[in-house]
Amino acid sequence: MGKRRIEKAVKIATKAHEGQMRKSGDPYISHPLAVMKILQDWKMDEDTIIAGVLHDTVEDTELTLDDIKNEFGESVAFLVDGVTKLGKVREGMKDIDTYLPQTKDNLLRLLVATGADIRVLIIKLADRLHNLRTLSALPPDKQKKIAKETLEVFAPLADRLNMGRLRVEMSDVAFSYVNPKRYEELKNLIEERNRSAEKTLAKIEGEVKELLGSEGIKFELSGRVKSVYSLHKKLAKYDQNIDRIYDLTAMRIIVEDITTCYLVLGLVHSLYTPMAGRIKDYIAMPKQNGYQSIHTTVITKDKKVIEFQIRTKEMHDYAEHGLAASFYYNEQKLTESYKQGKIQHLPTNLLWITELQQAAARLREGKKVNLDKLKLNLFADKIFIYTPKGDIVDLPNGALPLDFAYRLHSEIGGHVTGVKINGKMSSLNTKLKHGDIVEILTSKTQTAKPTWFSKIFTSHARNKLKQQLGRAAEIIPKMTPPKPKK
Ligand code: MN
Repeated sequence: MGKRRIEKAVKIATKAHEGQMRKSGDPYISHPLAVMKILQDWKMDEDTIIAGVLHDTVEDTELTLDDIKNEFGESVAFLVDGVTKLGKVREGMKDIDTYLPQTKDNLLRLLVATGADIRVLIIKLADRLHNLRTLSALPPDKQKKIAKETLEVFAPLADRLNMGRLRVEMSDVAFSYVNPKRYEELKNLIEERNRSAEKTLAKIEGEVKELLGSEGIKFELSGRVKSVYSLHKKLAKYDQNIDRIYDLTAMRIIVEDITTCYLVLGLVHSLYTPMAGRIKDYIAMPKQNGYQSIHTTVITKDKKVIEFQIRTKEMHDYAEHGLAASFYYNEQKLTESYKQGKIQHLPTNLLWITELQQAAARLREGKKVNLDKLKLNLFADKIFIYTPKGDIVDLPNGALPLDFAYRLHSEIGGHVTGVKINGKMSSLNTKLKHGDIVEILTSKTQTAKPTWFSKIFTSHARNKLKQQLGRAAEIIPKMTPPKPKK
């Protein structure tokens, strides 16, 4: 039955898109078919796959929503309608600076309005992934626009859904268009590091295999390659100092159950010295997106630093495929609970989805919904700031020019003389806004000042400034003498 329904959808979509071409010159149907394939790889349910095949028909062909409802039922029609509306949000907005914040707002409104059926978003993510894979066919200005939007909207969403593999592919492809030079540079750097770590890794692999084997533990071992974009972001945080990035080389150990995870942690620590403060137990305390794993950074006998990630098979699947994986694990139940309009089988950590659902229910009842509060959770209250060259730096909402300067490099932060925001000279007290293009002016003779503490929002910049001011900064807060008691 299932297969026949999908075949029927393919036939109908092929006929509807007949004669249409993509910019690449391929027949248009190649795109919905690729989206279908992606959704199948993610092991999504049948209705979602069918909606993926049909996702562009209502927008671009003679086919109507009623046709789809008659052929495939209410649920598929609802999903196609949601994806169509999500596409429409973005029409007619050409200016990237006003367009991106609006997209996010509208995206949220729509998610709420569509009943917060996350499957709409998953189809949209599959659609975006294929468009990215074929981005080279578009003119450069469109490439940049789609790439930036991906970095700011879709990759964070993939992260929120814990779809790790998707997030990595999306952000790396997008980054290669936003900043091609930097992308190549970092890609080469990672390859170079991996090549030089090959021998060490092989040795460690041997040692770990032997020990775990002798304990009779069943496990899978694999290397993990760091993504270019996440390295780019981490380097910005650590003054471009690659030696401070400890998870460049990482090894994953996948075992059968949670107890074995902790056993393996102990064994790894018996083999190598753990680094203080670098053991993270995301099994006991999962990340906000539901990610679970134990991370530990160790130093080997020949002084090499390596991170181990220890997790169960189910945790691994969830880290790679996120929400899509939980559809697979709970397929029947989850689909059923969606039909009933309630979600019961989502990981407890994906609370924001439940929040969206509740917001949708409130809207249906004609009650008010605080979208700002939702936005806070969805995009983690981040703003994205551009350098004049187009690099993107994400900062917490409330950040000031000095926060941005210190994030670029502490040398830049320490020599700031002024700032241009969107081409205009501005004060160092100006709160940065999402999408601002910020140029930091520096001079070699300028040095860091204690008065800058009041012009700083992030603890990162505060710490850098403290270091630069040296001892003086330590003393200043203590200089107010305590009030004498009488
Ligand atoms: Mn499409």
